[in-house]
Amino acid sequence: MNDDLSLYDEEIKFPVEIEQYERKIYDLKQLIEISKGLNSTLDYNILIDSILLTCMGQMQLLKAGIFTHRSIDRQEFVLHRNYKGFEIDHKIEYVIPANSKLIQFLDMNFKCYTLDELKDILQDEPSLESLICLNPSLIVPLKGKGTLNGIIILADRINQKGFSESDKEYMLNIASLAGIAIQNAYLYELATTDMMTRLKIHHYFQTILIEEREKSIKSSLPLSLIMIDIDNFKDFNDTYGHTCGDLVLKNVAMVISGSVRQSDIASRYGGEEFAVILPHTEINEAFKVAERVRTSVQKSYILYKRKKLGVTISVGVTQFNPSLDSTSKNIIERADKALYISKQQGRNKTTVLLTDK
Ligand code: GH3
Ligand code: MG
Ligand code: MG
Repeated sequence: MNDDLSLYDEEIKFPVEIEQYERKIYDLKQLIEISKGLNSTLDYNILIDSILLTCMGQMQLLKAGIFTHRSIDRQEFVLHRNYKGFEIDHKIEYVIPANSKLIQFLDMNFKCYTLDELKDILQDEPSLESLICLNPSLIVPLKGKGTLNGIIILADRINQKGFSESDKEYMLNIASLAGIAIQNAYLYELATTDMMTRLKIHHYFQTILIEEREKSIKSSLPLSLIMIDIDNFKDFNDTYGHTCGDLVLKNVAMVISGSVRQSDIASRYGGEEFAVILPHTEINEAFKVAERVRTSVQKSYILYKRKKLGVTISVGVTQFNPSLDSTSKNIIERADKALYISKQQGRNKTTVLLTDK
């Protein structure tokens, strides 16, 4: 009799196990797809979007956000601007200090937590303040190369259910993939950024110009290039010293970044020379951007030993011409020629050159 019962038991357990395995296979297939998606980009903003949308889709959520390092050399965590659904008070800065107890705790305990669990564990820890303001229902740490490199916050499940243990385990798997993707994007950013000016390095500029030239040919969309050189910078250094010169150089780079669109690629071409690639941009628009950069640099200044000090720039602009420019080098040479004319004509000028004559 007993034997019969145990047989019967086995029989009803069996289909449940199959269902569990099927679920596991489905989840693993999903994770492979997620991994492919997250590894297909090194662009930080696109990656953050992709992570958040993946979490929202997989967990059926209305709100998701992510805290990541503020910048390459500033380690505190800030809420990334691509957050979804959360109502943000723009007067508040949502920051979690890098050396806070919250970060130390999540670094040591790679698990998903509810806000209440963290409040219980960390008590009145001030670094919880940003999370309390956002009131997430689940907090998920991200790790790349063994250290915490982000925190995902999730809220408002569409089905209004809480997170089961298997949901949390699944989220942690997504977090492991996302943490590695963020680490890769961070290393790429680090390797392609000039640490002094925060613009892109020369090699990156050359690579992107080759790519954009090819894209422009395929899409028939315009492509323009701006070359910039600081005027009489040797004299400036000789008068005020190299330390002061460095401050001006950083300021000029900041003005350039602030005067171009996010889709434009601003780089430090050489010592005191810069280049901006403007995809999908005709020469007239590129000229306007160049003039905006030139006049903004002219107006800007740094305070050095209580003195207001500034420089001017000379600018050369050109547009890619498929019948003239067999390589990206040709485009650079023409923009450089235009820049040289600006110098010859007295500096603090923008020159447009569309042909090689
Ligand atoms: P022009 O108007 O013809 O461009 O004159 P210029 O003096 O700017 O040109 P030149 O090429 O003779 O000198 C460039 C100067 O830029 C010389 C170099 O000391 C300075 N420079 C290049 N890189 C840096 C840097 O990283 N920091 C500082 N402080 N100066 C730099
Ligand atoms: Mg120069
Ligand atoms: Mg110069």
